[in-house]
Amino acid sequence: MSAIATISQSALLHNLSVVKQYAPQAKIVAVVKANAYGHRLNLVAPILENANVLAVSELQEAQILRQISNKPILLLSGVYSDEQLQQSIDLNCQCVVHHMSQTALINNSMQTLGIWLKLDTGMHRLGLSTKEYQQCYTDFKSNPLINIECVMSHFACADELNHLMNQTQLKLFNTITQNENNRSMANSAAILTLPESHFNIVRPGIMLYGVSPFSDDSFTLKPVMQLLAPIISIKTLQAGESVGYGATWTADKPSTIAIVAIGYGDGYPRHANNNTPVLINNTLCPLVGRVSMDMIAVNVSNVKVAINDMAILWGDEKLRVETIAQHSNTISYELLTNVSPRVNFISVE
Ligand SMILES: *Cc1c(COP(=O)(O)O)cnc(C)c1O
Repeated sequence: MSAIATISQSALLHNLSVVKQYAPQAKIVAVVKANAYGHRLNLVAPILENANVLAVSELQEAQILRQISNKPILLLSGVYSDEQLQQSIDLNCQCVVHHMSQTALINNSMQTLGIWLKLDTGMHRLGLSTKEYQQCYTDFKSNPLINIECVMSHFACADELNHLMNQTQLKLFNTITQNENNRSMANSAAILTLPESHFNIVRPGIMLYGVSPFSDDSFTLKPVMQLLAPIISIKTLQAGESVGYGATWTADKPSTIAIVAIGYGDGYPRHANNNTPVLINNTLCPLVGRVSMDMIAVNVSNVKVAINDMAILWGDEKLRVETIAQHSNTISYELLTNVSPRVNFISVE
């Protein structure tokens, strides 16, 4: 008896169409780093045929992706040695260049190479300073083996509507890159709310998986992953009896408790608080007591249940992963990428 995660092909396609609806003129770089945000690359990549480019974080991910896809691959962290550069060329990847230590490597390449030049417009994580960018740009332009496919930058606060930094970053990017044809800045949050940041190439990640970067609006996105697990025990507690490690929840009246076969060993967050909703037989029921490695307890006093009934932990219109993230003091990205190998993944229509 184990937890399963279903991956909905139709939801994924729908969410890709939402990207097109918001950014109709733009090419799409579908971000599939971290095993497609935990949804499993082998189930997701084949469905994204209509994306123009697939983006991963590092070479190891590119290697796995290349075995299942012929699409252009963008390597978001770029390369750090001649060996990695060669591997990247062999895999037919385009590399992001975001640090001066990468430029000499790239410039010494003996083979043609497509690169994406990344400007730091204020996030101060990856990206060249304006001065470095201009120097690199000139160097690369004079090297016939190097094609600058696109110039890019990344927002620090796109998921905070009207954050001042968004306009500051956008303005700098616009100024420095005004003569470029291929420009990319928008992640999911910017695709949905900052049309002036779309340029001609957008980079959706989380929205493809049906998760909104904004807690108050789902933008018609449909959850792609549904996480389910069976009820493996049912018992009645009397008032004053408690459940689970640390006895952190005590019944105040006779209560029916279902034990569901999922825990932090599967990627369900240990910090999910009491009252985190679990969807059982179409009814939202509260989590009670601590999350164990393999099990959780749910108060099912208000719903008819039987052993083997499947509980939905997230990924339903009635119970989105965003809600679970709020109840466990984290973000949806972390929950999705943490679903463990013990969970069985199944592709569904
Ligand atoms: C992860 C990532 C994205 C996608 O971000 P979402 O918020 O998931 O849409 C876009 N661009 C870069 C450079 C990234 O690292």
